[in-house]
Amino acid sequence: MTFDRATLPSLLNREQLEAVLHGEDPLLVLAGAGSGKTRVITYRIADLVRSRGVPPWKILAVTFTNKAAEEMRERLLGLLGEEGGEVWISTFHAAGARILRREGEAIGLPRSFVVYDESDQLSLMKRVLEAAGYEKRQISPGVVLRRIDAAKNHGLGPDDLESEDEADGWLVADLYRRYQAALREAGAVDFGDLLLRLFELFETAPDVLERYRRRFEYVLVDEFQDTNDVQLRLLRMLKEDGRGLCAVGDDDQSIYRWRGANVENLLAFPEIFPNTRIIKLEQNYRSTQIILDAAHAVIAKNPHRMEKKLWTRNGPGEPLGCIVARTEREEAERVVDRIRASLRRGVDPSEIAVFYRTNAQSRVLEEAFRLGGVPYQVVRGRSFYERAEVKDLVAYLRLAVHPHSDVDAARVINKPARGIGATTLGRLQAAAADWGVSLVEVCRQAAQVPGLSAAQQQRARAFADLVGRIALAAAEGAAGDAAEAALVLSGLEAAYLDEGTDEALERLENLREFVGAAREWDARHQPDPDDDVTPLAAFLEQIALLGDADDRVSGPKVSLMTLHASKGLEFEEVYLTGMEESVFPHVRALGLFGAPESLEEERRLCYVGFTRAKKRLVLSLAQSRYIFGELRFNAPSRFLSDVPPRLFGLEDQERLRPADLEEIDEVEDAAFDLDEDDGFEDDYVIDYAWDQRPEPRKRPKPPRKKEREAPALRAGMPARHASFGVGMIEAVDGDKVSIRFPGVGLKRVMIRFLEPV
Ligand code: ATP
Ligand code: MG
Repeated sequence: MTFDRATLPSLLNREQLEAVLHGEDPLLVLAGAGSGKTRVITYRIADLVRSRGVPPWKILAVTFTNKAAEEMRERLLGLLGEEGGEVWISTFHAAGARILRREGEAIGLPRSFVVYDESDQLSLMKRVLEAAGYEKRQISPGVVLRRIDAAKNHGLGPDDLESEDEADGWLVADLYRRYQAALREAGAVDFGDLLLRLFELFETAPDVLERYRRRFEYVLVDEFQDTNDVQLRLLRMLKEDGRGLCAVGDDDQSIYRWRGANVENLLAFPEIFPNTRIIKLEQNYRSTQIILDAAHAVIAKNPHRMEKKLWTRNGPGEPLGCIVARTEREEAERVVDRIRASLRRGVDPSEIAVFYRTNAQSRVLEEAFRLGGVPYQVVRGRSFYERAEVKDLVAYLRLAVHPHSDVDAARVINKPARGIGATTLGRLQAAAADWGVSLVEVCRQAAQVPGLSAAQQQRARAFADLVGRIALAAAEGAAGDAAEAALVLSGLEAAYLDEGTDEALERLENLREFVGAAREWDARHQPDPDDDVTPLAAFLEQIALLGDADDRVSGPKVSLMTLHASKGLEFEEVYLTGMEESVFPHVRALGLFGAPESLEEERRLCYVGFTRAKKRLVLSLAQSRYIFGELRFNAPSRFLSDVPPRLFGLEDQERLRPADLEEIDEVEDAAFDLDEDDGFEDDYVIDYAWDQRPEPRKRPKPPRKKEREAPALRAGMPARHASFGVGMIEAVDGDKVSIRFPGVGLKRVMIRFLEPV
């Protein structure tokens, strides 16, 4: 195969080589981003197998995400051929699941156990609370689960909680016990259990532990800074004296504290495992010096860190880019404009990434990508309108417009939970079929439905009422008001607040973002008195059109992801959006609520984001933005002002002023000449909205920002709109036109969104 020890010196620097060839003693590689830590792990495995004759199945490599595991497996297949596939490469959790499936019977776990995700956990906890005689009002299931999860991450059982100082420790301990019993009964484990029960297995079945000890002669752990206490304990069980253990990590990239990760593990490693050899790597192979300097300027402000300074032979590279937009919509459009310019210069879409702090920010970006015809994928996250919670809210709104939409009714009749179970729903559906009316109509006449108790009838009627009330709000007001009414009246908002987990709050954030999207739609589309379509109906139609082009596009795509998901990855060009106070750093890390450690973690997140870029880093911000459907004006992020102006190409000044950013932005825009026809084929550009075929096709260039010239359009001419198709212009008024689309009605739209046909 392709691996040969003799070639290593040409592939690795001296320190990397030392780490790869290092013997059995515990090994810790401590180094900054892009210095080749992951590369060391890969080559070390290859060397163990090829040069030292270690059977591949005796090696366990632990990565932080499944995606990282896949990438490493691919590299090893390349280096070792088939044998590369025999190495165990997985996350801690996946390894736990795999071992428990084989050996779990020793602790009473059936082979076919199921793994519960967060929503499963929640419904189980609700049942536990009910059975224990607590009302939902008294104890929030989400809060209890959070406490249990935290305990599990620290390897604590119910007994440990009882003896804690917290006054309600006994209560949580009691619920913890009941919850575990319920899991056992269901033959299920939750995420935390995948590790904790493995621990239990190793403790109760020493023979099993002994087998795995002998089996995993070598254990290599990537991203060690984000391990939690249980993971460390498991490692200590498997590798008591640390022989054969290798960990790599960077304290500056610890970004999962909120999930129980403990960066102290990295620092304590040499004390836990005597004779640890520590190797530091300082040369960065990924980024330009300018990008490294910017990252260093941000992270250097954190106290309590191991000082590391990276250098590179890659040269200074181009100055940082910057985009200052008035609104988040403009920000998204301008990011896409610049990406189009890069694609024309020949950059591969898969070498471009756009990052954001929270999932909800992806919505506006996705729309801009679709409008701009640039293929994209949302990495480790669902496309905004595909998210379950967004679909729920849309279902309520669709019901408000079309009460006979039974699919939507069935989807949300028990969301949030209102005691209408599967059996009741079945009876209602049967009645609907019998009577030939809609599900909502059946609910309204629930008293006539056979087999329903009085309480069930009452709940069904309440649901029909609810739909009626949302419809009323929708008929009167704008799309934004309708969306907000649906969010509140449906009880979804209250339910997520009640749940209170990070995941629930993030879902709620997405729903509020959706309300913001509807408000924005209203602002851009004045209702027309002649129009027979309500703003809500038009808005829903636009979403439906946005929703379905995604999967038909194959080939390389630009990656959109949260900063957290970007760990370990690299791209030629990175756009970091939403560089604003309260967005990034996130509002939860600021002011009254923010602990100083949270701000430090945001800083590390910024460091992670910057250091993903190989050649080009563009920082963008919007001066105003809808957050939770409310217009906010945020100052530029403090992380921007930490970056020395010279890195943006401003030589003779000490500090960056907001006006400078705008200036850099303009100069850059001009330099890119976004409108220029430079002879490159728009190979990658795809028409999402009006072209159903997957083949790329040419698309008119977007107008340059400053002089977005309106196409010459007059009344009586046909024109094409990305969402509505071809319509007939009835009147032109400044930069807007009134145009009638078949099946949609009369719309007022900005000229620049139209294309002559
Ligand atoms: P992170 O902290 O972001 O996870 P890392 O330390 O794991 O980064 P790698 O991803 O292993 O760094 O390496 C960064 C890039 O530099 C990769 O593209 C890798 O192939 C390349 N690289 C690392 N070392 C060398 C080397 N000695 N010669 C050439 N390329 C190298
Ligand atoms: Mg890495």
